[in-house]
Amino acid sequence: MAERENDTIGSTLQAPHRLTRRSFIAGVGAMGALSVLGGLGLAGCSPQSEGASNGGSEGAAEGESYDVVIIGTGGAGMSAAIAAYDKGLTNVVLLEKMGVNGGNTNYSSSGMNASETKFQKEQGIEDSNDLFAKETLDGGHNTGDEQLVKFMCDNSAGAIDWLDSLGIKLDNITLTGGMSVKRCHRPTDGSAVGLTMVPGLLAAVEERKIPVMMNCEAKELIKDGDAVTGVKVKADGKEKVLGAKAVILATGGLGANPDMVVQYRPDLKGYVTTNQPGATGDGYTMAESAGAELVQMDQIQIHPTVEQSSSTLIAEGVRGGGAILVNSEGKRFFDEMSTRDKVSAAELEQPGSFAWCTFDQQVYDANKAIAKYDKAGLVQKGANVAELAAAIDVDPATLQATIDAYNAVTTDGAADEFGRTEGCIAFADGNMYAIKVAPGIHHEMGGVKINEKNEALDASGNAIPGLYAAGEVTGGIHGNNRIGGNAVCDITVFGKNVGEVVAAALA
Ligand code: ADP
Repeated sequence: MAERENDTIGSTLQAPHRLTRRSFIAGVGAMGALSVLGGLGLAGCSPQSEGASNGGSEGAAEGESYDVVIIGTGGAGMSAAIAAYDKGLTNVVLLEKMGVNGGNTNYSSSGMNASETKFQKEQGIEDSNDLFAKETLDGGHNTGDEQLVKFMCDNSAGAIDWLDSLGIKLDNITLTGGMSVKRCHRPTDGSAVGLTMVPGLLAAVEERKIPVMMNCEAKELIKDGDAVTGVKVKADGKEKVLGAKAVILATGGLGANPDMVVQYRPDLKGYVTTNQPGATGDGYTMAESAGAELVQMDQIQIHPTVEQSSSTLIAEGVRGGGAILVNSEGKRFFDEMSTRDKVSAAELEQPGSFAWCTFDQQVYDANKAIAKYDKAGLVQKGANVAELAAAIDVDPATLQATIDAYNAVTTDGAADEFGRTEGCIAFADGNMYAIKVAPGIHHEMGGVKINEKNEALDASGNAIPGLYAAGEVTGGIHGNNRIGGNAVCDITVFGKNVGEVVAAALA
């Protein structure tokens, strides 16, 4: 996987890139050397582009003004910018507080869930929007917002087509926990979805010459009466106000802000996080100060398969492709394809509160991400079960018995004592692998309350004029448990939607 160095200073549009968490952090740390990448070299925090005008706006303290200011360059923010632009809004700007674009979307590993898609139809997979909605609501134990879930599912196939039209083809379809049919759409080669989506969306942003202010942190929303009319930003140590007819919060989650995590979930003190360093929950604070309601903020999802020394998320597709979880005694203990909350809870009950995500060569070969984990030194291995058992310090006979029993379920149709029915693929003889995993903070499922127009709502359900939100910063879609692959659907469907809604509102 190609890594790019972050070699920008101030606020600079960055070229599409591929990165690991390590390069993300290294990139951010490397801000200092000057270089302009891509077609739009932007000096300081004031982009000039063909589309941008500086007409001034009521409530803005200074002259720099836009139709739409979008805060955050993850999947939601970039989708919003592209969709708004394509619906005629050219005076749009994206703000990114980090020196790297893409946010946590860079790490999206499973894929994008979607139903009734052309790719499912081509592959003979029978699915329906209603089934997708039902399984999303069931996965969240019926605590999700039914209307938003329905909207997401009904628009998921359209979002897959839209991405395809941008050159982001997600036609390799698999399962994640909590779904009964294959609807998790991945890039053709089965690689992690974020590393295709982020460069693809960035290329579309560049193509449209939509300005991106890098290293530009939104600090506060500016209001004029009830309406949001701008954003106070800080860049290069200086603060200024950008005027806006509409502001879209696409700031992602809070997983990299341990104080905020503990504020909402004291029991998660000390957990590692899978989130990038910019996921500090700024959007929640800004939205709340502007009068928006936050819902279900205690619903912070922990992910069951996080390698703890590097905080690397081991993609759910690895289990979906056949891997099992065994404890330190070499025994399986739960349905690996159950929902994330249940698998995490079961894992925490095991000795040492961890598990070995264990798989064979077939799984290794079918999941591109595994070679990356291996390169990072996260994968233990052996030429057979006994060698792997020695490498991970479990009893070889027990591990062999565990694999034999699992193979009997997969090949003979025997009932699985843990109830697994999905992704059951027998282990072949030969190379065996294992990655040590435990739960880690992964996703804030609560957030800004929105409606189907992505309008930010106050506690009485009234839209706050000029304020919209999309992506992880919003709450209510996933309820108290998000299905793997639904975040990418959420950010794409609602990101595209908010861009279109704002363009229509300002037309
Ligand atoms: P989503 O999946 O909802 O698109 P991501 O985590 O992928 O969310 O992206 C959110 C982006 O917003 C990240 O790149 C993050 O660094 C950026 N961000 C967060 N807070 C701010 C802020 N105050 N100002 C500018 N950018 C921000």
